[in-house]
Amino acid sequence: MSSEIPRITILGSLNMDLVAYVPHHPHPGETLTANSFATSPGGKGSNQAVACAKLSRSPSTLSSPSAAVSMVGAVGSDPYGSQLIQNLTNYGIDASHVTSLPDTKTGIALIVVEAATGQNRIIISGEANHLVTVASQEEKNWEWLDGVDLLIMQLEIPLETVVTAVEKAREKGVAVLLNPAPAQKLPEGVYKGLAHLIVNETEAAILGEIDESELDTLEGLERVSKKFLERGVENFLVTLGGRGVYYMDKKGNKGLVEAEKVKVVDTTAAGDTFVGRYALEVVKGDEKFDIAAAVKLANKAAAKTVEREGAAEAIPWRDEVA
Ligand code: ADP
Repeated sequence: MSSEIPRITILGSLNMDLVAYVPHHPHPGETLTANSFATSPGGKGSNQAVACAKLSRSPSTLSSPSAAVSMVGAVGSDPYGSQLIQNLTNYGIDASHVTSLPDTKTGIALIVVEAATGQNRIIISGEANHLVTVASQEEKNWEWLDGVDLLIMQLEIPLETVVTAVEKAREKGVAVLLNPAPAQKLPEGVYKGLAHLIVNETEAAILGEIDESELDTLEGLERVSKKFLERGVENFLVTLGGRGVYYMDKKGNKGLVEAEKVKVVDTTAAGDTFVGRYALEVVKGDEKFDIAAAVKLANKAAAKTVEREGAAEAIPWRDEVA
């Protein structure tokens, strides 16, 4: 790692979130009046980029972050697309590799949040995100990967692109953090040498081919984590919502960190905040990286997001979690 600030790149999705806050989730056939409605920038890729950017900066010193964050992805040629790019730029994120595609719609997420519980239900239409193909990145010669300290990816773009990016990163010696959401099975080759795998309970069950109830006990969590380490993952983390996080690494560190006790308002982007804060610890370099400390900091940052409505705007700034 150079003496300059570390570089984090996120290859992933950008969506406009259309969010309705409702008194209860609608029943089939029911027309429901929302308490309120908001559009806000989202998509797991974009949210994780914003998390890295906000958590590495103070709002007052946007220009002196602890990491340089860039985003690679695609939007459509509609107003949502330019708003999403503007949103990244506002947080000091380099969006020069977010392509605006002609005759294409920007990805959207329809989100319904139940006021009393903060529980959400989400429908995604990927649109431009589906066009982040291997060919589209071959065209760029994957040049944006050069000099990157950590590549972060999720699964809201084509799986083939993610799998190829893992290979390219390996060739170029770039560490990868994979957050395989929404869950789908991965080719076995992805796991070997994967630096960081962060899953939630659903993803752990699908990727680990286990029943989710296995994650209810410490023994179960340990067993499942070991399986992922045996497949070649170096650091494995499973986020457990209101229960906290379990982690295990190949050096033998492991543990359960309990969730902070907070009033749940909206859990959107909690996982993304977790990934962002953890990533900022990873890029401090192998000598300084302490998985237990990183998990605690990420757990604390994610709890802040849970206390607030929305995605990008709910993610805390560095000073708020210091
Ligand atoms: P995802 O949103 O990706 O499904 P989780 O629901 O597991 O992820 O939440 C990610 C992290 O956010 C948790 O590990 C925890 O740190 C924090 N978190 C989520 N829900 C709560 C909660 N109810 N109280 C406190 N922290 C929470």
